[in-house]
Amino acid sequence: MNHKNRQEENLIIIGGGPGGLSASIYAARNGVAPLVLNGPEPGGQITTTSELENYPGFPKSIGGFELTQKMTKQAENFGVRLEYESAEEVDFSGDKFIVKTEAGEYIADSIIIATGSEPKTLGLDKEDSLRGNGVSYCATCDAAFFRNKEVAIVGGGDTALWEATFLAKFASKVYILHRRDKFRGAKILGDRVKAKENIEILWNTEVKNLKGEKKLEGLRIFNNKTDEESGLDVDGLFVAIGHQPRTKCLKGQIELDDYGYIVTDKKQHTNIEGVFACGDVQDPDYRQVVIAAGSGAKAAIEASEYIEEKEDSFPAKEVKIKNYNEDNKSGKSADQEKEEGGLSLSLNLD
Ligand code: NAP
Repeated sequence: MNHKNRQEENLIIIGGGPGGLSASIYAARNGVAPLVLNGPEPGGQITTTSELENYPGFPKSIGGFELTQKMTKQAENFGVRLEYESAEEVDFSGDKFIVKTEAGEYIADSIIIATGSEPKTLGLDKEDSLRGNGVSYCATCDAAFFRNKEVAIVGGGDTALWEATFLAKFASKVYILHRRDKFRGAKILGDRVKAKENIEILWNTEVKNLKGEKKLEGLRIFNNKTDEESGLDVDGLFVAIGHQPRTKCLKGQIELDDYGYIVTDKKQHTNIEGVFACGDVQDPDYRQVVIAAGSGAKAAIEASEYIEEKEDSFPAKEVKIKNYNEDNKSGKSADQEKEEGGLSLSLNLD
């Protein structure tokens, strides 16, 4: 159903994870009224992370889903509009940029791409249902939950080697399960894991299936040279077989690197003037929430400047900012006001 016909926007942010939401907050506070297309399941990868212990400001950790909710609320308080639509196709060839979704078509002065990336999965039965309950795709996020426990990590690239060393600081034992007899990752990282007493490398080894219903209780593994099968009693399985940046909707419209990540400069500019990218879709190295949020802020500052300098930009939309500090006559505490959305102040930014 095509009910939106070239809806005009100053700024469209594609993606509603930490990068996109942070960008939306910065853009709104800069006087641009962004529209966020956050897909049918907003929040990005962090919604599947049970607890974040390394996001600053939350000394007792915060759930990934809860952090997304707070960021979304904060964005809405600044007048950010969110649509539960996914970008299916873009056209960056003209002076204005076109974004097509299942609901119609948008035209924008500027775009921030924050579509994130997704970890590659092993494709095993129960892998999805045990995700967050023993199966993880991020050692930096989840290693601390496996203190003094035995875990396995699958992969032989830089990520698996780096994460195995990190896991070895928490877990009592780390098994590296690699499908070949040689690592793909850097020699220095390989030497480091070989030197760790509590890391054991199982070469030519693959996971056959996962044990446990509500939480992971162990693995069935096999040697792909000998076909020999055995059980491995671990509480955690870390899958580190690479990430896939989400760029399907961009199809040949923007420069990507050899691994499919969007190429940006240090100010989050892509090769198309007026199109910026932030978060994991342009970050093959770190993939951390705090870094995605930081790059989102940079992208929004750059996009706001671009729109301000653009001669024929669309008229800015009216932004409704909820202000907690003025006119608090309700007698409620600031926290109560914030929880309920606060007082509403209409600001015209034309
Ligand atoms: P990667 O280099 O593509 O390595 C993926 C690993 O997973 C390979 O060893 C591969 O095995 C294995 N694998 C792939 N599919 C598998 C499957 N279905 N079952 C079992 N194993 C499978 O990915 P990455 O390690 O995430 O690294 C991606 C990029 O980020 C690289 O450019 C890397 O250098 C960079 N990076 C850098 C650092 C750093 O410290 N500088 C840290 C992390 C990542 P094969 O070897 O048999 O193909």
